[in-house]
Amino acid sequence: MISHVDGYLEHIMAVCCDNRSGAVADYIPELTRVDPEGYGLSLCMHDGHIYSRGDAGTKFTIQSVSKPLTYAFALTRLGFAETDDKIGVEPSGEAFNQVSVDDRRRPKNPMINAGAILAASLLLPPVRDIGPGLVDTVFEEVTAFYSACAGRRLSLDVDVWHSEAATGARNRAIAYMLDSFGVIDSDPEAALDLYLRQCSLQVTTDDLAVIGATFANGGANPRTGRQVLAPEVAQRVLSVMTTCGMYDGAGDWVTSVGLPAKSGVGGGILAILPGQLGIGVYSPRLDQHGNSARGIETCRHLSTDLGLHMFNLT
Ligand code: GLN
Repeated sequence: MISHVDGYLEHIMAVCCDNRSGAVADYIPELTRVDPEGYGLSLCMHDGHIYSRGDAGTKFTIQSVSKPLTYAFALTRLGFAETDDKIGVEPSGEAFNQVSVDDRRRPKNPMINAGAILAASLLLPPVRDIGPGLVDTVFEEVTAFYSACAGRRLSLDVDVWHSEAATGARNRAIAYMLDSFGVIDSDPEAALDLYLRQCSLQVTTDDLAVIGATFANGGANPRTGRQVLAPEVAQRVLSVMTTCGMYDGAGDWVTSVGLPAKSGVGGGILAILPGQLGIGVYSPRLDQHGNSARGIETCRHLSTDLGLHMFNLT
């Protein structure tokens, strides 16, 4: 039987599916192979119940939606003082792949590539010449952390990872630029490798919704009951997602949707209503900021219709 929530989700998907604006990411061939019409939507409530419609079971690469997770893992591992010493919390107002650094040459925030590569470097030992074997070990810990947030074991899209590694000139430049600034204590090549692997983990919109609900619940996964991260870490990550998660589209997003969120060039959007629920949307055509165009429209409808804006006073 279809619940009224499922019926509502189908309704807004029917409204938004006419939005064919934007284009699928094509900087690597693997990302062009997706169905541009793919469209999934999932909500995970604070009791762990998942409502999902459309292509909610389709796997896609998490890409930049990984950034808040690795930031959370770095905060958990190193604590706030050490992490803040390396990565700022200010919106950059620039594109995700700009080398936006502050006057101390720290990446401005962990949601842009520079900050995310640095966050990945913080998980590695502070030594040079780290081989792929050690990156394997740390990547397994990262995968275990993401999987605990999602409530199921996530796996790597090896083809996407290899293509990202083969074509990642811009990200390699960012890693070495940060290294030249003296802010990477580890091996820049290993940090880049770890970052590209985390971006290549596969998720579904159900996974994103559960990850969102875990953050919304102060770090306790509502489906497994496991406390995956500390409430103060969840609070910090949600704050940075609010101001920086949608890159140079962040201000428009916060005023119109009003939810902490993170997008990825794989077409996923994770949005969170603190204390209430997690939302996962997938639709691979991207707008000029690299955010899912149809996904943004879907979130706008959800927020307006259900009064989800975090400053909703009506
Ligand atoms: N792997 C992509 C990159 O690093 C992720 C970017 C994104 O999703 N915005 O360029």
